[in-house]
Amino acid sequence: MKIVMLGAPGAGKGTQALNIAKQYGIPHISTGDIFRANIKNQTELGMKAKEYMDKGALVPDEITIGMLLDRIAESDCKNGFVLDGFPRTIPQAESLKAALQLQDAKIDYAVDIEVPDEVITTRMSGRRACVKCGGTYHIVYNPPKKEGICDNCGSELVQRADDKPETVIERLKTYHEMTQPLIDFYAKEGVLHTVDGTKAPAEVLKDILGVLG
Ligand code: ADP
Ligand code: AMP
Repeated sequence: MKIVMLGAPGAGKGTQALNIAKQYGIPHISTGDIFRANIKNQTELGMKAKEYMDKGALVPDEITIGMLLDRIAESDCKNGFVLDGFPRTIPQAESLKAALQLQDAKIDYAVDIEVPDEVITTRMSGRRACVKCGGTYHIVYNPPKKEGICDNCGSELVQRADDKPETVIERLKTYHEMTQPLIDFYAKEGVLHTVDGTKAPAEVLKDILGVLG
C-alpha cells in the first residue's frame, strides 16, 4: 500500500503516519525527519536544508526529489510506504509518479488532513518532537507518558526551531502557495480522500483507517 499524507504543517500528518505505518507494517518516511537527522549530524545536505527550513521555505526540488526517490528504492519499501511531507510541490508529485510508473506502481491513497490555519498556530506552539525516531507529541493534546521523554524510544523531546510563531506563518504561506495544489493533483488521479483533522487524534485515525480499509 503506497500512501501520501497531505495537509498543512501541523495538520497531524506525522502523528497519523506513524499510526498507519504501525497498523500496516510499512515504513513511515518523513522528508522533514530526514533533513533534521542530517542537520543533527551536520552533513552537507543538512547544512543546505537548514538555510531553507529556518526561513519556513521549502528545500529546493533538486535536493529533495533525489533524496526521497533513493529512500523509496530501499528494500523495506517493497510492500509500500507512508510518505509524510512529500510531495510538497507539483514537480515532486510528478517525479514520484514517474518513478513509480517505471515499476508499474502508483500512489494508492492520498489522505488530506484538513485543519484551518487558526488551529494550526496553537498546535505548533505546543508541539514537541523526538529527533531520534520522529515521534511527535503535544503538551496538551497528545502528551507523552513521561514529560519531555519519547514514549517510543525514550529519547529527550525538543521544540522544533521552525515552530516559532513567525516561522509558522511563513510555512503556512508556503503551504498555500506551493503544496495545496497537490489536492487537485491527487483528486485528478482519483485517489484523494479528505478527513477532518480538527477531531481528536484517535478519531482522525479511525476516519483514516475507514478510508484505507
Ligand atoms: P504535521 O506532521 O502535519 O506537521 P504533527 O503530526 O507533528 O503535524 O502534529 C502537529 C502538532 O499537533 C503536534 O504537537 C501533535 O501532537 C498535535 N496534533 C496532531 N493531531 C492532532 C489532533 N487531531 N488534535 C490536536 N492536536 C493534534
Ligand atoms: P516537516 O517536518 O514536514 O514539517 O518539514 C520541515 C521543513 O523541512 C519544511 O518546512 C521544509 O523546509 C523542509 N521540507 C520537508 N519536506 C520537504 C519537501 N518535500 N520539499 C521541500 N522541503 C521540505
